[in-house]
Amino acid sequence: MLITNKHYRQNLKNKKRIVIKVGSSSLVHPETGETDLLKLEQLVRVLCDLRNQGKDVVLVSSGAIGVGRKALGLNERPKELAQKQACASVGQGMLMMIYQKLFNEYSHVASQILMTKHTIVREKSLHNARNTFNELLKMGVIPIVNENDTVSTDEIEIGDNDTLSAVVAAITSADLLILLSDIDGLYTDDPSQNKDALFIECVTDIDDSLYEIAKGAGSDYGTGGMKTKIDAARIANDAGCDMIIANGKDFHVIDDIMKGQEKGTLFLAHKSEKFNILDYIEPEKIINGGEEEIHDYRC
Ligand code: GLU
Repeated sequence: MLITNKHYRQNLKNKKRIVIKVGSSSLVHPETGETDLLKLEQLVRVLCDLRNQGKDVVLVSSGAIGVGRKALGLNERPKELAQKQACASVGQGMLMMIYQKLFNEYSHVASQILMTKHTIVREKSLHNARNTFNELLKMGVIPIVNENDTVSTDEIEIGDNDTLSAVVAAITSADLLILLSDIDGLYTDDPSQNKDALFIECVTDIDDSLYEIAKGAGSDYGTGGMKTKIDAARIANDAGCDMIIANGKDFHVIDDIMKGQEKGTLFLAHKSEKFNILDYIEPEKIINGGEEEIHDYRC
């Protein structure tokens, strides 16, 4: 039987548990870096409508550092770790305040979950996190997830929310992950440089040639770039979850995707029976007496 991309797209209508990741660039006005309140409102409305359809919804939202930096009057994104952490400490609270207000307007309850690498690599923490997600989703709550940037240091940070959202999709056994960014999806080459670049609608296998394509694809300004999106797809797909990269310039794209429209690039799930989240987590590097020690979490 020939199963086309169209067939897979129609299947998306039946997805029950959806993780949606929005990058900072989709939440701010590009000219000023200030929060785009109308877009946030649109995002919350679309997510509430998914809840109203009976779907479980998890939001992975960036923006803590960006919102905090603006509130503190810093013109540039901070480079120093302590400054980033201070900005995140201010911004995360402000971001949640806006989300809570908007979700409340549509009579939905949102919650906050902040994670670090240690949440994933410590068996007990992972178990607790999974239970918390499951309980919240059972109660109809929309969990809003971010990395706990105020305490994450270089050695233990997950680093980007593409990876974080794939981990969340895996531990919640979600069946669809939507990554919203400032690009339409994956092209065979950088479309701004090569007019013959073709849009890739559907990816069935993630191999080295895809990473080569991702290098030339350009144009994602988020923390992760295209490589981390392919890494995220590997985690999600191996965990049994389909993933889509789509453009977050208009959040109605979420609705279009859920109606089976061919938006973004779809990466098809192929559940690996031996799936272990630790296989996808970078080992921790510890400097001990000037020597670098690699701490592999699987040992
Ligand atoms: N956790 C960071 C923040 O909230 C963003 C990381 C990312 O966008 O990948 O600012």
